[in-house]
Amino acid sequence: KFIVIEGLEGAGKSSAIALVRDFIEKHTGKAPVCTREPGGTPLAEQMRDLVKVANEDDPLCDEAECLLFYAARAQLVANVIKPSLAKGDWVLGDRHNLSSLAYQGGGRGLMPLVSAISDATLKGFKPDLTLYLDIEPKLGLERAARRGELDRIENQEIEFFNRTRATFLEFADADDSIKIVDASQSMAEVHKDIIALLQELSW
Ligand code: C5P
Repeated sequence: KFIVIEGLEGAGKSSAIALVRDFIEKHTGKAPVCTREPGGTPLAEQMRDLVKVANEDDPLCDEAECLLFYAARAQLVANVIKPSLAKGDWVLGDRHNLSSLAYQGGGRGLMPLVSAISDATLKGFKPDLTLYLDIEPKLGLERAARRGELDRIENQEIEFFNRTRATFLEFADADDSIKIVDASQSMAEVHKDIIALLQELSW
C-alpha cells in the first residue's frame, strides 16, 4: 500500500511520519520504503535543489516551479514508488501530488496547469491513504519559525498559505482516501488520531 502524509509547515509532518513508519513495520514485519517530495531519487533531489537555488537575479517563475515538481514526481513514481509497490513493499510518502494541487494549484493559482499535468503524468495513480495534518497557517508558521525552519519558500504572505490550506481541505472533502487530522491538538492527541485511522485499514 501507498500511504502519504501531507500538511503545511509546522503541522508536525516529521513526527507523524516516524509514527506511521513504526506502525507499518510492526504490522507488516517490514519497514516501508520512505520517500519525500520533491525528491526521493538522485535526479529528483537535484530538481528539489534547483527550486532552492533560484534567487533574485533569476527568480523561479511559478510555472517552472510547478513543472520541476512534476518532473521530480514522475521520476520518483516511475523509479521508486511503482517498483516498490510491485514487489509488495509498502511505501510511505512525505508529501505527494496533493501538495502540488494545494500549493501550486490553490496557493499560486495555477489549478488548470496543475490538474492537466497531474492527470497527464500520474494517469490516475494515487495513494491508498493520505493523512492530511490540518493546521491554521498562522499557528503552523509560528511553530516552524520557533524551530528556525522558515526559508525562502516559507517566507511568504499568510494569504498564500490560507489558499493552500483551503485547497487541501477541498480535496479532502471530495476524496474518501484523504483523511483530515486536527494538527492543532497536542502531539499525543494527533498521534492517537493517526493510529485510529491506520487501524481502519485492512492489514
Ligand atoms: O515537506 P517540506 O516541508 O520539506 O517541503 C519543503 C517546502 O516546499 C515547504 O516549504 C513547502 O511549502 C514547499 N512545497 C511547495 N510545493 C510543493 C511541495 C512543497 O511549495 N508541491
